[in-house]
Amino acid sequence: MNLYTYCEGDPVNSWDPTGHWQEGDEELPQWAQDAIATYTSWYTTGDSELKEMAHARAELVRSFIKDGYYQSRSDWGAKPANEDMEQISGTRADYYDTIVIHHTDRSQNENITDFQSDVLSGVEFADIPYHFVIGADGTVYEGRSLNYEGAHCSVINTGKTGIAVMGNFQPGNVTLGNIIQGALPTEPTPDQRLSVIHMTMFLSDAYGVNSIGGHRDYGTPGATQCPGDSLEALIPYLQRFITK
Ligand SMILES: [Zn+2]
Repeated sequence: MNLYTYCEGDPVNSWDPTGHWQEGDEELPQWAQDAIATYTSWYTTGDSELKEMAHARAELVRSFIKDGYYQSRSDWGAKPANEDMEQISGTRADYYDTIVIHHTDRSQNENITDFQSDVLSGVEFADIPYHFVIGADGTVYEGRSLNYEGAHCSVINTGKTGIAVMGNFQPGNVTLGNIIQGALPTEPTPDQRLSVIHMTMFLSDAYGVNSIGGHRDYGTPGATQCPGDSLEALIPYLQRFITK
C-alpha cells in the first residue's frame, strides 16, 4: 500500500491512518523503531488527541535522527567490547522500566572514541557502561547496545537504561583527576539538555518506564553525587515522561 492509497485520494487533508510506519523506518536504530511501534499502538487505540501526538512524536524521532543528533556505534567507529556482556532477558519493552541519568565526570568536550579507549584500557568495564552518551554539541552516541545490561548503577543495573551527559555538573567537585582531565565543574549545554530531554521521551515511549531519576536517586543514599546538582535539577522535568 502506498501513501496515496492510505490517504484515499486526499493526501492533503488526510492523516496516514497508520499514524507511524513509513518506508525507511526499518533503517532507523532499534530504539527508534521501538518508539515508533508504540506510536503505532497509540494511533490504533487512541482518541484524536493521542493520534495527533503519535503522529508528531514519530516525526520528531525521525527528524532527530535525520538531523544527525544520533550516532550508532558503527557511525562513530566504536571498537568491539573487551569481553562478552550480559544479554538482557526477554524483550527490551519487558526488560526496561527505569531511565537513569548520569554525568561522565570527565571533560565536557571529550571525543567519544577517546572516552571508549579509556574505558577499554581499564579493567572495570567490558565496554562503555552507559547505553547512550551525550556530547557537548548534543550529539547522542550509542554506548553499549540496549540488548546488553548496563553497568552504570552499581549492582542494581537490571531494567535500567543509562544515559550519560559528558561533563562534570557538580559544583565544587574538583579532584586532581578532574583538573588533569580538564573536567572542572560546569553546566550542561543547551544542546545537551535538549538531547537528554528528547532521548528520555523517546526511550520512555519505546519501553514504558515507571521511574526516571539521577544516578544519586538509586542505591545507597549519598554514595554518589552523579549526575551533579546542575543536571539533577532537570530530573523533575524529565519525570513528566514517565509512562506507566
Ligand atoms: Zn553516574
